[in-house]
Amino acid sequence: MQPGEVPADGDVEASLRPRSLTEFVGQVRVREQLELVLSGAKLRGTPPDHILLAGPPGLGKTSLSMIIAAELGASLRLTSGPALERAGDLAAILSNLVEGDVLFIDEIHRIARPAEEMLYLAMEDFRVDVMVGKGPGATSIPLEIAPFTLVGATTRSGQLTSPLRDRFGFTAHMEFYTAAELTRVITRSATILEVDLRPDGATEIAGRSRGTPRIANRLLRRVRDYAQVRADGAITREVARAALAVYDVDVLGLDRLDRSVLTALCASFGGGPVGLTTLAVAVGEEASTVEEVCEPFLVRVGMLARTRQGRVATPAAWEHLGLTPRPGSPA
Ligand code: ADP
Repeated sequence: MQPGEVPADGDVEASLRPRSLTEFVGQVRVREQLELVLSGAKLRGTPPDHILLAGPPGLGKTSLSMIIAAELGASLRLTSGPALERAGDLAAILSNLVEGDVLFIDEIHRIARPAEEMLYLAMEDFRVDVMVGKGPGATSIPLEIAPFTLVGATTRSGQLTSPLRDRFGFTAHMEFYTAAELTRVITRSATILEVDLRPDGATEIAGRSRGTPRIANRLLRRVRDYAQVRADGAITREVARAALAVYDVDVLGLDRLDRSVLTALCASFGGGPVGLTTLAVAVGEEASTVEEVCEPFLVRVGMLARTRQGRVATPAAWEHLGLTPRPGSPA
């Protein structure tokens, strides 16, 4: 980008990424654990064990993988589970790794079976078996690969097969952020974006960010638009409230999709129990979006329960929507 040029929103997201463990807000436990893993490896002069980062989207897994590589002074290669459809795709990446590289595989739970099996050997013995030819004449040629560190990220650690899970030496369980931590994230971002963010404005945005830095930064950018277009540019509590009303983000941070999930659950299915797929169809979304994006937060704020029979709305959900539970409904 040229000096003076205004970055596009996508570049802005990249510019807001924390670059070091000290800049990385919150996740105190994970940071402490990681610091030990990385320092131990640096002391021994060997690549650290493979690391699994588990947690909902937007909590900083990609950022953390970049930080891990930076802290180790290593290069980072990025790919994702869905991109590794064939074992050959993975073999090509693995054979190009240089000693000490960090390989980041996002959504590692979605990796295809043959690639996953290749990964076992690569993670354990730094070796891959490449199949040459087809049919009875096919032979497998062992190929050495440089010692590397795999950093896997997953929003669904339960979906990882146990052979894969067992090959990670350390799993970081990422937690949702507190409002105070999100206030720090937003305040840091406002400085980078050169936005006039007042403390009460920061608190207001943080409280509606669903414990998620990516959402906090996104709301900050939307509130900035409002502040610049409809106010004098400063983000105060009033400006933040007015802006977030325009974007349908309510006081608890529920957005339109969260509310439609809850409304469908209460109004169409009497509060449940209802299966995930049925619920997703009712709101016109992919089941995975409802499960990975909406539900962790709705469960966390005590509005939705996942039971063996299906999804159930809690009394808090009915109350938040201003609805009265039907007699006999689970609430
Ligand atoms: P994930 O890979 O878990 O979906 P990302 O690493 O892409 O999440 O993070 C999304 C955005 O949130 C990043 O662009 C970054 O600006 C911000 N972010 C995430 N975690 C933190 C943190 N701990 N401190 C500051 N900003 C963060």
